[in-house]
Amino acid sequence: MAPALLDVHGLRQTFPRADGGELLVLDGIDLTLSPGQIVGLLGRTGSGKSTLLRLIAGLMEPSSGTVTYLGQPVNAPAPGIVMVFQSFALFPWLTVLENVQLGLEALALPEVEIRRRALAAIDLIGLDGYESAFPRELSGGMRQRVGFARALVVHPNILLMDEPFSALDVLTAETLRTDFLELWGDGKLPIQAVLIVTHNIEEAVLMCDRILLFSSNPGRIIREITINLKHPRNRLDPAFRDLVETIYVAMTARAPTPPRIGIPAAPVATSIDTILPRVSANLLSGLLETLAGEPYNGKADLPVLADELHMEADELFQVADALQMLRLAESEGGDIKLTESGREFVDAAMDGRKNIFQRQLLSSVPLAAHIRRVLAERNNHLAPKSRFFDELEDHMSAEAAEETLRSVIAWGRYAESFAYDDDSQTFSLENPT
Ligand code: ADP
Ligand code: MG
Repeated sequence: MAPALLDVHGLRQTFPRADGGELLVLDGIDLTLSPGQIVGLLGRTGSGKSTLLRLIAGLMEPSSGTVTYLGQPVNAPAPGIVMVFQSFALFPWLTVLENVQLGLEALALPEVEIRRRALAAIDLIGLDGYESAFPRELSGGMRQRVGFARALVVHPNILLMDEPFSALDVLTAETLRTDFLELWGDGKLPIQAVLIVTHNIEEAVLMCDRILLFSSNPGRIIREITINLKHPRNRLDPAFRDLVETIYVAMTARAPTPPRIGIPAAPVATSIDTILPRVSANLLSGLLETLAGEPYNGKADLPVLADELHMEADELFQVADALQMLRLAESEGGDIKLTESGREFVDAAMDGRKNIFQRQLLSSVPLAAHIRRVLAERNNHLAPKSRFFDELEDHMSAEAAEETLRSVIAWGRYAESFAYDDDSQTFSLENPT
């Protein structure tokens, strides 16, 4: 086996929280990268993927653990490691050629050599003829090609890609992936190994030799999957579909909760500090109706459903998570299945639906019940958002606290469990009982 280009060992990253505590984002990350490989890091939004890439790129220092590149510790950006970002960080006042040449700024090369290499990278990535165009004259896909050219011009040993296709429309993204894989397969890319971060399962299966599955809160590598399919890979190939399915199952599996005597089935949102996915009540009822109807009749395979609904895996996960938290659906080995309450919801008329939703919300989402209780106990039945935000921020990042509150507000409004005024940022109880 070839020696490791990159070795990450025991990496752990925490960020300070407002209350003086710390938020654990990455925990015990070990990985190696060898020449000739495309390795994927697959995880949900917020699982710490970008943080891990930034650590590997030497853009920040880990709380503990080590990143070793060619036997040397990485504690500043290493010349042989470059990153392609999700969105094209191009300078609008520079031409394509000038933007690409910028990649070589740090290397003290002669002017002619800089130009020669930049032109070669532009040519390679399919932008021949656009050397003197400005970014605003290019489509999103072409701008991302400039981003690739700027990274490749360095001839890095390791190319780090942070969701490089996710800001593009579906067709453009597919074209860029195919072009990239073709160049890689033909040995035309001046790089040795690729580490790509994605939340898109199919993209990972399409591109990678190895996929590392990432858990959330904190980010940990929960499983490694080797992919031996030949390129070009066919998404419809049964072996491809099997891998996608296996990964779906692994990513939707929950750690089993020990049964507790006297308490009904273990709730998914166990405490007020559970991060709530950002899903509208409309989307929730839409998915419930789809599930209840033909051809699913109450139970569907998640990959099939994602396909049919033209939804991204990540998006579908969020809806499935929300439905599980509300116990309107449950997951079962990669399938999603309506619960009795979910069935009852679909069968009910509008008012009935609100009542069922309210019942599920207050019994299964502790934060909603908590807000309702606080409001009921106060004489004026009012409470500022900051009251709950501060509480949540003790347990999660400010960003997650904000999202969680936005979700609970949307769900509480739909259920008419409580109201929220955006201007005064105040919760209120409309019908205290
Ligand atoms: P991903 O790329 O998987 O979506 P990120 O690495 O961007 O995830 O973020 C993981 C978590 O770390 C999030 O909760 C985010 O809010 C938090 N986070 C990231 N960077 C910082 C930072 N500089 N300070 C505080 N929290 C951060
Ligand atoms: Mg990210």
